[in-house]
Amino acid sequence: MFYPRRFCPHCGSPDLAWVRASGRAVLDSYVISHVSGPGFADEVPYVIAIVRLEEGPRMLSRLAGVAPDPAVLELDMPLLVGFEPRGEMAVPVFHPAESLRPAGDAA
Ligand SMILES: [Zn+2]
Repeated sequence: MFYPRRFCPHCGSPDLAWVRASGRAVLDSYVISHVSGPGFADEVPYVIAIVRLEEGPRMLSRLAGVAPDPAVLELDMPLLVGFEPRGEMAVPVFHPAESLRPAGDAA
């Protein structure tokens, strides 16, 4: 599940553990925002996305490294996580996996 909770949202169990995720996901849904927000003032328009992690949970994030254009945003497109510094924190953002693939890697 994501976001972290004290109890399982399915069965109520408190017997939970952290799981390290692979960072791989696919695009589940998105909206293109033309409204700036705190920390994002100079980045409009930008893509607010719901991504589905390889491990199952969905999370709200932002897409980077891709134009905020429905012509290039394909549902189920493979994504990889990256982390952007925001003040004293780093927030997860997702990039198209194609754009991060090393040259010559056909996998
Ligand atoms: Zn459960």
